[in-house]
Amino acid sequence: MRYKITIIPGDGTGPEIAESTRRVLDSTGVKIDWETTEAGIDVLQKYGTPLPENVLNSVRKNKIAIKGPITTPIGSGFRSVNVALRKELDLYACLRPCKSYQGVKSKYKNIDLVVVRENTEDLYAGVEFEVGTEESKKIIELSKGKIRNNSAISIKPISEFATERIVRFAFEYAIKHKRKKVTSVTKANIMKFTDGLFLSVAREVAKKYPEIEYEERLIDNMCMQLVQKPELYDVLVLPNLYGDIISDLCAGLIGGLGIAPGANIGTEIALFEPVHGSAPKYKGMNKVNPTAMILSGVLMLEYLGETEAAKKLEKAVSEVIKEKKNVTYDLGGTAKTSEMADEIIKKLGA
Ligand code: NAD
Repeated sequence: MRYKITIIPGDGTGPEIAESTRRVLDSTGVKIDWETTEAGIDVLQKYGTPLPENVLNSVRKNKIAIKGPITTPIGSGFRSVNVALRKELDLYACLRPCKSYQGVKSKYKNIDLVVVRENTEDLYAGVEFEVGTEESKKIIELSKGKIRNNSAISIKPISEFATERIVRFAFEYAIKHKRKKVTSVTKANIMKFTDGLFLSVAREVAKKYPEIEYEERLIDNMCMQLVQKPELYDVLVLPNLYGDIISDLCAGLIGGLGIAPGANIGTEIALFEPVHGSAPKYKGMNKVNPTAMILSGVLMLEYLGETEAAKKLEKAVSEVIKEKKNVTYDLGGTAKTSEMADEIIKKLGA
């Protein structure tokens, strides 16, 4: 079996970790024909957009993609390419397993959590109105004094449809991966209609899975609980924005963003990417940890049904981390990005 897979190296440190990831995946024995496509801040001038149509077409055609991080300007400039990819391709489920690896310095041991984040709506929908526009003035009027004059406004859509499918995804994942509990996380006490809807749909879906324990937490309490007693949690299912924030918190529990992988999954297409961003201050230095993207590759191999290769690769990664000899700066070593990848390849016996 040969796979045709789109690779989007991204920008900042993306191309460095993507190249390492590609070499490592090629050393697993799984036969992959790579289709490299360019997106991100570096191609903006060349194509007039950070997300050229050929990138989307390639992913739609191959149905599987792996990407490096892509920069999103803060406060102004183009909208997030990462969010656009997830929305355009309807990759509704963002899956972010957080697992402790021996050898990584962290305040916690034996963390094994999975964050399931809704990927297509919530405040990420990009429905925003600038201060002073006709739309924002109209919404201010409708709010009957609840919104101050001269406010910028963001809309938070939460639908029954998207909530039902993400909560179902979380329960199906729990069953498939022999997990015991799903916790829904909202702020339904305050956002009674939006988060309230997420919560009531989650309760309904949970009834269909009596074999999996179900519980609920408010997002603020969840943050504290994760810091104090992360071992109490298993699979978390959250709306988009809370899911984004909690993912980084969970990455912190296992020792940092350098080892936190992710997947964006739709009904037909899946795109794998690390949780972390483009870490632009390290661009071109061959310095950052390639592990998060390599472990995203492990998730990709599992998704493809290449279970043996996935296991072998995860074992190779965990051995390299445990030995601590050829690891990057964030894991206490001095190895370059490419050197850590070389060591993983060596462990694969390739
Ligand atoms: P970041 O994740 O790039 O970096 C945060 C911190 O983590 C930095 O201190 C960096 O040194 C460290 N770090 C990140 N990746 C690492 C790695 N592989 N190895 C070792 N250390 C690592 O977050 P940021 O600085 O907030 O964001 C930079 C840019 O990335 C922004 O434009 C942001 O929008 C974008 N971003 C993209 C994605 C994505 O492509 N999916 C995700 C998050 C952020």
